[in-house]
Amino acid sequence: MTSAEFPSHSLDPEDWTSLRHQAHRMLDDILDHVAALREGPVWQPMPDAVRNAFNADLPLEPGALAEVHADFLRTVLPYGTGNLHPGFMGWVHGGGNLEGMLGEMLAAGLNANLGGRDHAPIEVERQILRWVRRLFSFPESASGLFLTGTSMANFLGLLVARHWALEGRDPGLHQAGLVAYASAAVHGCVPRALDMAGLGRAALHLVPVDDLGRMDLKALEAALAADRTAGLRPFLVVGTAGTVDTGAVDDLAGLADLAQRQRLWFHVDGAFGALAILAPSLANLLVGLERADSLAFDFHKWAQVPYDAGYLLVRDGQQHLDAFAAPAAYLQRESCGLAAGSPWPCDYGPDLSRGFRALKTWFTLRTHGLRHLGAVIEGTCALAQSLATRIQAEPALELMAPVTLNIVCFRHRGENPDALNARIVMELQASGLAAPSTTRLRGALVIRAALVNHRTRAEDLETLVAAVLDLGRRLG
Ligand SMILES: *Cc1c(COP(=O)(O)O)cnc(C)c1O
Repeated sequence: MTSAEFPSHSLDPEDWTSLRHQAHRMLDDILDHVAALREGPVWQPMPDAVRNAFNADLPLEPGALAEVHADFLRTVLPYGTGNLHPGFMGWVHGGGNLEGMLGEMLAAGLNANLGGRDHAPIEVERQILRWVRRLFSFPESASGLFLTGTSMANFLGLLVARHWALEGRDPGLHQAGLVAYASAAVHGCVPRALDMAGLGRAALHLVPVDDLGRMDLKALEAALAADRTAGLRPFLVVGTAGTVDTGAVDDLAGLADLAQRQRLWFHVDGAFGALAILAPSLANLLVGLERADSLAFDFHKWAQVPYDAGYLLVRDGQQHLDAFAAPAAYLQRESCGLAAGSPWPCDYGPDLSRGFRALKTWFTLRTHGLRHLGAVIEGTCALAQSLATRIQAEPALELMAPVTLNIVCFRHRGENPDALNARIVMELQASGLAAPSTTRLRGALVIRAALVNHRTRAEDLETLVAAVLDLGRRLG
């Protein structure tokens, strides 16, 4: 065979110099964008002409990198959600960080597949597991896995719990009557996880919450007793460390005791709240978390790792492995060579091909350090307390929930407060000044500011309050 007979179809550039030049420009442009965030709006609506640009024909022929990048600068970059911006306070979005971004760039360059096999990227992921175990005081035998986010991590935690409850028997034949428990403030991905597991969301019993938004453990015990009497089979209780609406933290130690007494799997959804463990002044809220059977959390929220970087930690690594490992001839393991190093990450979840989420996490944790990331987390909570105080001092505003962590729910007073506050938030987002979101608490629509971004400062909260007051006066 000769090269003349088989012309190259390689995707590598013919002109490395010009690719290198363009690559550096692209890096500079994104750094410039982040450096100048404060000068731009949090968010801006996408004009129709820009949206229509995404109706282009199939790109059959090659295009110049510089041209595609120019389109990115024009049509994509200015119209993000705004979660990089210090004025972004909607939902629970991380702010990202440049060192993590650079790690992600290198990960893409390596094009590593972390399903398995014996290579250094897998060791980076194992390093993160060792750190996560130490952070949450889990035993050496605990297993862990990067996933897209806490939605998936909660789902996989549920599947491991079910495997444990059924002692490995086929769920298709044996799962009838299994029931799980969580507070009424549980994230929507948990009932969906029960649906996806084939248990159905009716198998999730929602337990009322107290004034602080925490699961009422007496009500939980009553529900368990009633369900057992009715012949159901309780197997799982999901505690929440940081509810999505108000940031409430369940009594995790109480839940751990109860789960032990009642022989239940104790899973914690700590999507953002679990990383409060990094902040000395907040860690006491999480007492009991170290006793969980499994924990789901995100590096991409409070730890500021670029999306996506969810994580599942399971106390009993063997249960975790047993729940997912499935032998296949083409995935044969060896004691040395590239097929060594079993078990592989693909043995701990449904994904075979897996990206290198561990690298951007490794870069983020190592460059910023856990102490400083803890200070960021503490800082957002201190800002949330000051925002709550500011709101309580303003007669036109009303604080709508106690502030446990970094989430402040409030509203502008008015005759039709639901409509008024929905309108205020829409106008506020469109103004580009600040971007909180809304939720409903006991039926009332409220403005919800979740302070997650490491760039947010006191002046951004002042901008928020001033803009809400101004809109309230004009729209009320
Ligand atoms: C964000 C969040 C989730 C979902 O996590 P994703 O990473 O978005 O999948 C689940 N539970 C809580 C409490 C959350 O805040």
